[in-house]
Amino acid sequence: MDIVDLSRDIFHRTQTHPSHPPVVMTVWNDHSEKKHAGNTTFTSKAMFLSLSDHAGTHVDAPVHFDPRPGAQSVDEMPLEKFYTSGFCIDLSHIPLKTAATLEEVQAAVAKSGQTIQPGDTVLVWLATNERLLGKPGYLHDFPGLSLPAIHWLADQGIGMFGVEAISPAPEGEPNFQAHMACAERGITHMECLANLDKLIGRGRFRFIGFPLKIRGGTASPIRAVAIFE
Ligand SMILES: [Zn+2]
Repeated sequence: MDIVDLSRDIFHRTQTHPSHPPVVMTVWNDHSEKKHAGNTTFTSKAMFLSLSDHAGTHVDAPVHFDPRPGAQSVDEMPLEKFYTSGFCIDLSHIPLKTAATLEEVQAAVAKSGQTIQPGDTVLVWLATNERLLGKPGYLHDFPGLSLPAIHWLADQGIGMFGVEAISPAPEGEPNFQAHMACAERGITHMECLANLDKLIGRGRFRFIGFPLKIRGGTASPIRAVAIFE
């Protein structure tokens, strides 16, 4: 069995969407501090974390982008959504700040040799991390998917799609519309994925990326993996 880790590290001040709070992480206590319990003296180490529900590699819940009453929060989403079959498409040639067109996405799916099955997770390698991660442009210059491409993926019956960027479509209006399209079509997306290049040309895999059970959460960090059995 070959497990490909698709999650980014979570660490102090890691790059997050500018409209969300930053990741703050520090040592809460460590082994230099002796603790006493009855006759025993011991040490332990633990960290303090403060973060947005959209920190690091995460999945957006419908309540994030769907203003209608009853839109699901992350703890209400069926776990089946996060244990699916999936494959990754290669859109690494799309220029920065550009949305891949319907035709480009259809061509990438055809090139992958796969046909989208109901409930599939479709991962989208746009070479965002390779070009931008760790640089100021990571927060603004990412490429993404066009609205017709997102609607077409929904028409094929996907459960969700995932990108490496902080947003599924280029900054501003395209990103707002992409989120609205997800609400309208009953699909969702993952953001800040990693290592998608390692999936290209390898066909189908088991996708697993369970969210934390955050009550009322609008998203959750996930440990996303692709498993080749
Ligand atoms: Zn998000």
